[in-house]
Amino acid sequence: MSNVCVIGGGAAGMMAAVTAAEGGNKVTLFEKNEKLGKKLYITGKGRCNLTNASDEENIFNNILKNKKFMYSALYSFNSDNVCDFFKSYGLEIKVERGNRVFPASDKSSDVISTLARALNKTGVDVRLNNHVRTLVCKENDNEKYEKKIDYIILDNKEKISFDKIIVATGGLSYQSTGSDGWGIKEAEKLGLKTVDLLPGLVPFNIKEEFVKDLQGLSLRNVSLEIKSNNKSVYKDFGEMLFTHFGISGPLVISASSVVNRLKSKGNLKIFIDLKPALSMEELDKRILRDFDEFKNKSFKNSLEKLLPKKLIPVIINLSGINPDKKVNEVSKKERNTLTSLMKNFELTFSGFRGFNEAIITCGGINVNEINPATMESKKVENLFFCGEMIDVDAFTGGYNLQIAWSTGRLAGLSV
Ligand SMILES: Cc1cc2nc3c(=O)[nH]c(=O)nc-3n(C[C@H](O)[C@H](O)[C@H](O)COP(=O)(O)OP(=O)(O)OC[C@H]3O[C@@H](n4cnc5c(N)ncnc54)[C@H](O)[C@@H]3O)c2cc1C
Repeated sequence: MSNVCVIGGGAAGMMAAVTAAEGGNKVTLFEKNEKLGKKLYITGKGRCNLTNASDEENIFNNILKNKKFMYSALYSFNSDNVCDFFKSYGLEIKVERGNRVFPASDKSSDVISTLARALNKTGVDVRLNNHVRTLVCKENDNEKYEKKIDYIILDNKEKISFDKIIVATGGLSYQSTGSDGWGIKEAEKLGLKTVDLLPGLVPFNIKEEFVKDLQGLSLRNVSLEIKSNNKSVYKDFGEMLFTHFGISGPLVISASSVVNRLKSKGNLKIFIDLKPALSMEELDKRILRDFDEFKNKSFKNSLEKLLPKKLIPVIINLSGINPDKKVNEVSKKERNTLTSLMKNFELTFSGFRGFNEAIITCGGINVNEINPATMESKKVENLFFCGEMIDVDAFTGGYNLQIAWSTGRLAGLSV
């Protein structure tokens, strides 16, 4: 039996603590907040999409960075295992569109209370309001490692020694939940390499002023393409949203994880196809039909069947067509401009929103520093890492929490 310390009472830390305690260890969990799982509480818009009920192949396809590093962790604790784990501690779950798994109650708080119950049942000593400030190592006589973990120092200067320490303190996003990158900085101080932190799954700022007029407009079934210096780097179909600063919504959030990996983010253009089911010719015919129906109306009053209300003045303005022109006076050339605008509605990327609006943090502890079969540091003996602080990230759909559960489980098993 080892005396194990887990730092961080988020998804990965709670899973690691329960697992280590199930294995018969004496486990103490330190969380700096007054309660556990503050970030978990806001996941999935308060419903917590806790995993994706799909096979490993699909999960690997949705991991964007360092998927190979995840092989052992995911194969030893896959999404079925996650569901079984939660069911075994009394949580009812359901599967929705896209295999997204949620608690049957639609309440993320039930996921947290299930984990709290598991911590209690397995005898983990949970210490809330305990801010760990420093990790201290000692020299090691074991040639395999440079150092060995020794003790932690708390906010109140108390020093506590442990046999093994699991750090699960998260990334940098939504700092108000407690994740402020502490563990990553501490690992750097111990000589471990890290990868620069970037906001991931995050909305875009847009240069064009007119986006402000579109604020609140949600577009479904549109296609979004991103081009860097005229080369396509991302294309997908789905739902997006205009905001006071730019664009957000599922399509944009997913695109951000691809865009933030581009070496140069200059000259990035976004093209929205508002009518992806129609070719240019089909759209022109459709416009002509509407013009025929509205033949006595002016151009500005002829687009209501084709476009959402908020978009009409913007498109009219961009088209350069006189809004008061009668529709039967609109020329073929002008119609071409209109169809082009609808098929290629162009926006200019001017940066990402910050970490406080980012669902995840990209970057973190370099995976080469961690043994993927155990989650132990390769340099510091008895020091383990799990969760978002490691340089692994995925698309939305329950995959990021799956990463936290799998790496947390493996760290807990390894101690
Ligand atoms: C708005 C939002 C919605 C999301 N929705 C989903 C979703 O539906 N599905 C999904 O898969 N993923 C989702 N995610 C991502 C997912 O929440 C994270 O990837 C996951 O919570 C990371 O877990 P973690 O345990 O590694 O870190 P965290 O959850 O960040 O936990 C780290 C914990 O460590 C504590 N801590 C930090 N430093 C110290 C210290 N020095 N001493 C003591 N304690 C410390 C923090 O207070 C915190 O409680 C969402 C994220 C956000 C922001």
